[in-house]
Amino acid sequence: MERMIYFDNSATTFPKPEPVRRAVGQALVYCGANPGRAGHRAAMHTAEAVYRARCTAAEFFGADSPEQVIFTPGCTWSLNTVLRGRLKPGDHVVISCVEHNAVYRPVSALAAEGIHFTAARIFPGDDGRTLESFASCMKSNTRMIVCTHGSNVFGIRLPVEQIGVLAHERGAEMVVDGAQSAGVYPYDLKKMPIDFLCCSGHKGLYGPMGTGLLIARTPLRPLIWGGTGSRSADANQPEEYPDRLESGTPNVPGILGLAAGIRFVMQKGTDRIAAHEERLMRRLRQRLAQTGGVRLYVEPEVPCFPVLSFNVGDVPSEETAERLDRAGIAVRAGLHCAPLAHRWMGTAEQGTVRVSVSAFNHPEKCDRLVTILKDWTKSKKTS
Ligand code: PMP
Repeated sequence: MERMIYFDNSATTFPKPEPVRRAVGQALVYCGANPGRAGHRAAMHTAEAVYRARCTAAEFFGADSPEQVIFTPGCTWSLNTVLRGRLKPGDHVVISCVEHNAVYRPVSALAAEGIHFTAARIFPGDDGRTLESFASCMKSNTRMIVCTHGSNVFGIRLPVEQIGVLAHERGAEMVVDGAQSAGVYPYDLKKMPIDFLCCSGHKGLYGPMGTGLLIARTPLRPLIWGGTGSRSADANQPEEYPDRLESGTPNVPGILGLAAGIRFVMQKGTDRIAAHEERLMRRLRQRLAQTGGVRLYVEPEVPCFPVLSFNVGDVPSEETAERLDRAGIAVRAGLHCAPLAHRWMGTAEQGTVRVSVSAFNHPEKCDRLVTILKDWTKSKKTS
């Protein structure tokens, strides 16, 4: 693990910043009582720490209030909360053709309840055509557009703000999957046509695995019901947020670790992290493009988040990833939980090799990956 070069940050960032590790450890030592469940000082102390974490997240995303911030176990949970909490039989949903299974599977499952979806084609680098495509999928009963901000396979950035304007013009709500964008995109929800922002806490926000966020600007039916420490005599779930959507004992070490991750991003600056990662990606793309046999899928001028897919000729993506793993480089191969994106790109058979970077990666390591690939392809030719 020590000398591994880690390029699988789209799955979860690694390493985590030192303040995040410290916050998780300190939570176990100093915030050991259950927040909001008792009046004793230890419980109040934890509750205050969780509230501060909520305020940090609200400030970071430009939420209207800390109560709009819901802590979840991940982006998948956040998305399911919105889809299940808002849609009813007869509703129609528009998604994009590059959605992750965190969107694709729940909307597919909703068909059994009479809720149907259409996947809009996207046109990388041509926001106008992408927008027209979304518009052409809208129906009179379209209740919601659910759309990833960035493809977790190809990095392609979708014009979610323009799509949000379209949704609102047609009386629908806008749900953004920010799993790949949170931490590298300057969200200011007060100024954006987004009703629900769903994201992971453990990727670009550098929190521990098993953390996520939902910023809910509109009321929702809960996904699960249970104890909240508030209105305990009432059989009904409280109407107040965040209690309505946060039943059960919260993941306090995770939440406090996530808040430390968000502070890490705020201190470094989203724009500086994004610029660093973009430089790495540009360098990698240029060098890969000059490597014989390497196939890239996205034109260099298309706006992307720091995720890149490639293949070496017709070699199965898993074989290439295995070769890199043997050389100490962790990348992911296969379908990356996004079969729709692969069908759209024509890579459903081969899958792709995915490289995704974080604030902790260095340019020399990108060069190392290219050198290994070059040596390998050369040796394949001669053998
Ligand atoms: N959406 C996208 C675009 C993703 O990349 C991921 C994570 N691979 C998810 C949703 C699910 O995130 P989580 O693991 O936090 O549930």
